[in-house]
Amino acid sequence: MRWFGRESSGNVEDRRGFGGGTLAIGGGIGTVIMVVISMLFGVNPLQYLSNVTNKQQEQQVATSTTPEQDNQAKFVSVVLKDTEDVWDEIFQSQYNESYSKPKLVLFTQSIESGCGSASVSSGPFYCPLDSKLYIDLSFYDDLQRRFQAPGDFAMAYVVAHEVGHHIQNLLGTMEKVRGMQEGKSEAEINALSVKLELQADFYAGVWAHHAQKMKKILEPGDIEEALTAANAIGDDLLQKQSQGYVVPDAFTHGTSKQRMFWFKKGYQTGDVNQADTFASNNAGM
Ligand SMILES: [Zn+2]
Repeated sequence: MRWFGRESSGNVEDRRGFGGGTLAIGGGIGTVIMVVISMLFGVNPLQYLSNVTNKQQEQQVATSTTPEQDNQAKFVSVVLKDTEDVWDEIFQSQYNESYSKPKLVLFTQSIESGCGSASVSSGPFYCPLDSKLYIDLSFYDDLQRRFQAPGDFAMAYVVAHEVGHHIQNLLGTMEKVRGMQEGKSEAEINALSVKLELQADFYAGVWAHHAQKMKKILEPGDIEEALTAANAIGDDLLQKQSQGYVVPDAFTHGTSKQRMFWFKKGYQTGDVNQADTFASNNAGM
């Protein structure tokens, strides 16, 4: 993908380097830790003490990021900007309203989201409650190594898929489907979740279509990279999530074939009105 030197989004919250969760700091031992941290960072601890006593305060443990990850962070930020420009245009032309942009949170290891805690093993996800996308950049390496889906556009597809969930949130589709799922059997709930996921893939394809039209972002092989990723992270190949965390995007995603079908359909048509993965037979192809 042509991205170097292009404009990046102002909606990225870079919370990398704060891995390992948070330390809740109250009085007592917490205050001692706070003092040690203050000293390490060359701040007068007495300044803190008055503020900290009897108050819950959070202090995060910093780790460093690599230049390669910084590069990936820049890339993801440019992709986010491209999604903003494309969806803004679509929302204006199709729905006659402006596009409410999501925030993208970059994290390492684990994160507290509006939908609960998540770890790196969750993979990228979208939280409808705070309208934020959460991505740990180590997923970039996972794509290349674990899923054998190399190339920058594979990662762009992943970002565009999460933005697709944001679109569903804005259009009310997500809420509608949650309503439809109430009181249903697990199989029916899953089937509806799959359709939601495939629609996010479709929206990712729609984005690629318009981003190419607007900005000529594609290089030879890019669409193949996205399709390889869609193929590789389908349900039938995806590992189960680790337990103990709330993972909003841990639903079934559909088979590899279905995911590729819907991404391609979005890319070829560029037409948001053909997003009906919920029509009977559609998801099954
Ligand atoms: Zn998803």
